[in-house]
Amino acid sequence: MRHQSIQFTDLRGAGMVTGTGSYPSADHHSPVMMLTHYLLVLISLASLFAFTQCSPVVDSIRCSTGTTDCTITNIYGTFPDWKTCRARQVIFPTTEEQLLAAVAAASSSNLKMKVATRYSNSIPKLSCTDGEEGLLISTKFLNRIININKAEMTMTVESGARMKEVINAAAEVGLAVPHSTFWWGITIGGLLGTGSYGSSLSGKGGALHEYLVSVRMITPGPKGLGLGDAIIRYLNASHAQLQAAKVSLGVLGVISQVTLKLQPNFKRSLTYATISDSDIADRVLPFGNEHEFASIFWYPHLRMVDYAVDDRVDLAIPGNGYFRFIGFNPIPRLVSEITRNNEERIENISNSITVSNREKCMASNITRSLITSNAYGLTNDASIFTGYPVIGLQNNIQSSGDCMDDEENSLITSCAWDPRVNGLFIYETSVSIGLSKAKDFILDVQQLRDINPNAFCGLELYNGIILRYVKASTAYLGELEDVIKFDMTYYRSRNPTTPRLNQDVFEEIEQMALFKYNGLPHWGKNRNLAFDGVAEKYGSRIAEFLKVKDEFDPDGLFSSEWTDQILGIKGRTSIVGEGCALDGLCVCSQDLHCAPAKGYFCRPGKVFVDARVCTKLG
Ligand SMILES: Cc1cc2nc3c(=O)[nH]c(=O)nc-3n(C[C@H](O)[C@H](O)[C@H](O)COP(=O)(O)OP(=O)(O)OC[C@H]3O[C@@H](n4cnc5c(N)ncnc54)[C@H](O)[C@@H]3O)c2cc1C
Repeated sequence: MRHQSIQFTDLRGAGMVTGTGSYPSADHHSPVMMLTHYLLVLISLASLFAFTQCSPVVDSIRCSTGTTDCTITNIYGTFPDWKTCRARQVIFPTTEEQLLAAVAAASSSNLKMKVATRYSNSIPKLSCTDGEEGLLISTKFLNRIININKAEMTMTVESGARMKEVINAAAEVGLAVPHSTFWWGITIGGLLGTGSYGSSLSGKGGALHEYLVSVRMITPGPKGLGLGDAIIRYLNASHAQLQAAKVSLGVLGVISQVTLKLQPNFKRSLTYATISDSDIADRVLPFGNEHEFASIFWYPHLRMVDYAVDDRVDLAIPGNGYFRFIGFNPIPRLVSEITRNNEERIENISNSITVSNREKCMASNITRSLITSNAYGLTNDASIFTGYPVIGLQNNIQSSGDCMDDEENSLITSCAWDPRVNGLFIYETSVSIGLSKAKDFILDVQQLRDINPNAFCGLELYNGIILRYVKASTAYLGELEDVIKFDMTYYRSRNPTTPRLNQDVFEEIEQMALFKYNGLPHWGKNRNLAFDGVAEKYGSRIAEFLKVKDEFDPDGLFSSEWTDQILGIKGRTSIVGEGCALDGLCVCSQDLHCAPAKGYFCRPGKVFVDARVCTKLG
């Protein structure tokens, strides 16, 4: 284990419910009613740990007749602009030959097409093809493990294989996938589509595309060479185009197979160390270098940080620990709906922001208490948590997603965000900031926090601000430097014209990260405003990427309005209009982009004064 320089307390003792929550006295929020509500939430949340069955995540593509007249949406059931994308047809190839034939047929008739994974975990409209006549190529049945070369420590898989299967297959032969997303429901093709990551500054860092050995990709055939309407391209380290394929946004063609470099399986020792956030700005950089899999949950309102002291340890060290992140466990429908209902109620206490904040803090404190007393889902032996450190095999610690697939139970339990349930409905802002700038960003957020700490409870209800480390990449659309990824999850209204509690605070942090600190948005998360002009941030790398795109798909058959916008080819991602800033479709520049009739006006930020945020006045 590497040097560990921080003192920590056992998290189980840190799940406090602080004194921010005294009951308001308004009639319709009587103490008895409130208490009943919170008891219900508490009981409901507690039952999170009791369920094992789960209605599987539903496919993102639905067709009205067989495989024609189809719609596609994301895993949350709603794209940022609330529109559903349509396609004339979906095909489900089961072999590379079928994939080749499909691309050739579409290419010969100049048909727009898009690769769609089974679940479409990305929030933005990356899986949409233009218009209503396009073709979706699903990788649902292209999910086999093709080959594992133990001697070379490489593994070749079809692109629709999920992280879950990839990790398990490697572990079966004593190998480890060095890094992965925390959620195992992501396909390897989708991971390469958006450059998804875990957390590490060691070696090549926490993004799995850095461990890519080669890909096989089907693209339209080059014109005039007599090679047909589609070809199979093989790319490895000797091809510069691999740097485009590592993070491809799906615009180069269909990745058919992926070969990854693995490692001998190893164990990790993980402790969540809870410490005051007073020195987080100074700690964040050394911490990332001290622990191979360092990551952080930051709770600004509570002024607390849970540092994941997470290191590789010798395989011989005893321990059979597992990490099944609580947020990815099956949740009873009743719990989902009560919890959501409670948050909606809090958001809509229109007569007092102070009361709303107080209640939100009470809910977030209870939630944190439950989560941390269960060590975020860590167990020492796959069933209970008895104490730190939790030591377990990499494959049992690195990723989870128990709510993803189990026996159908008519939605009695599901993932918290299942769109068939009126449960969790959220935004995810995820921005990477260069290591050298992260300290100042954190100090700015703390300054904003000090103005109104309770405003941050809306983040703490969803594990606070998550910090993860990723190294500079050679991928054209990967990280430009070593970064910290700041992830924030927060309430989204089901009505895009409804302002949210403390909307100004969340908007200010978002704009600070993106504009003051020139952060890069995660391609698979975020709201439209985050991508406006993003291509310019990549400098000359965008031109390199577009060169490969023009070579592989000169007619832009795999491109769409959205990808043209984010790549700076045509148009902007902002959708400017009345109320657009309320739902992240634009940064407000006029009051009407907020909700003046409801008291929300476009005003400068409080710490980042260049920000323009929808602020409640009066
Ligand atoms: C619960 C949850 C947890 C998450 N956790 C993390 C995390 O820990 N870290 C992180 O970085 N991200 C995380 N994400 C975001 C996620 O990693 C990305 O959105 C990822 O790209 C989704 O993968 P997918 O397989 O669903 O691909 P999709 O979202 O369906 O597709 C993404 C893009 O890849 C393209 N694509 C997919 N397959 C292929 C292929 N075979 N060939 C060519 N193009 C292809 C698609 O066309 C699309 O453009 C999380 C998302 C969710 C919902």
